[in-house]
Amino acid sequence: MDFSKELIDWYSVNKRDLPWRRTQNPYYIWLSEIILQQTQVKQGLPYYERFVNAFPTIFDLAEASEETILKYWQGLGYYSRARNLRATAKHITRELEGEFPDNYKALLELKGVGDYTASAIASIAFNEVAAVVDGNVYRVLARYFGIKTPINTTNGIKEFKTLATVLIDKTQPAKFNQAIMEFGAIQCKPKNPDCSVCPLRSGCIALAQNSIETLPVKVKKTKVTTKYFNFLVCIDKNKNTLFEKRSKKGIWQNLYQFPLYESPKSINIKDFDTVALNSTLPQCKILDFSLYNEIDIVHKLSHQHLYTKFWILEVDSLGNSSIPFKDIHNYPTPVLISNFIDAVKIQNL
Ligand code: SF4
Repeated sequence: MDFSKELIDWYSVNKRDLPWRRTQNPYYIWLSEIILQQTQVKQGLPYYERFVNAFPTIFDLAEASEETILKYWQGLGYYSRARNLRATAKHITRELEGEFPDNYKALLELKGVGDYTASAIASIAFNEVAAVVDGNVYRVLARYFGIKTPINTTNGIKEFKTLATVLIDKTQPAKFNQAIMEFGAIQCKPKNPDCSVCPLRSGCIALAQNSIETLPVKVKKTKVTTKYFNFLVCIDKNKNTLFEKRSKKGIWQNLYQFPLYESPKSINIKDFDTVALNSTLPQCKILDFSLYNEIDIVHKLSHQHLYTKFWILEVDSLGNSSIPFKDIHNYPTPVLISNFIDAVKIQNL
């Protein structure tokens, strides 16, 4: 069986009509690839469309403030990707006169661009023979060839990249790369792929050995820590609140949040530590407080689970650093906070 030909034939018939497939503009392809990292197409598509409309050229993106870009990015997570987008746009417009690098090696030099993204842009925009290996490709190759090497080890990364490089159709690398990724996304799906209609079924080792559910293999590495977050939603008599920019390095850097008190365990209204509360909010007098959510909202990140409570505090006056509560939706925030804002908007807090 000609693996590459089967994939490309399948792709010609089954591919989804997606906006970044109608262009070879490296700027748009780069945008789509960064947005779609760790994100499903269905979720990423509206973000892509909003970005392309708001920033039709790389110059528009380079001109935008970090806050504006983070606001457009809000809800996608992994906010360092948004910050890297801006840094790279600035670099290309200032150092490279707006010319996108046109080969794998040069693309790899860009901030936020690794092997996968460089290969995707080089092949799709410039037709370079550079094999992509993303989660979909790992799955298709691991199953079809029955490879048990864990995909998140140095050996695994090397083995799969080498195999993809051997398999890629040298005359149509853009099509092959898109075909294998699309095949993994809609045919050889993570759960319950319909192998009865698969054009590769006669050569598929996982199907023959009944090991589809166990492939690809991944070793568990990340230790997940649990944190207890208490966001202090202060409201003064003028309906102002405190909304702070997170300046510390980390995934939420430069996003906004209510003052945060981290407790050693989940706390309820009876044992809320007013001392800690006062040290988090030294500049105001608390008149009354209530708990917005009795049951913790659990927000799961890749390496942390955040058990979160929102406390509503009535205070006397918040001073100059406060902003009108009604304006907080204009600021870029982690999705955990924006969900709260949306909920209280409905309840007219
Ligand atoms: S037969 Fe099933 S497991 Fe094998 S490549 Fe096709 S969809 Fe994937």
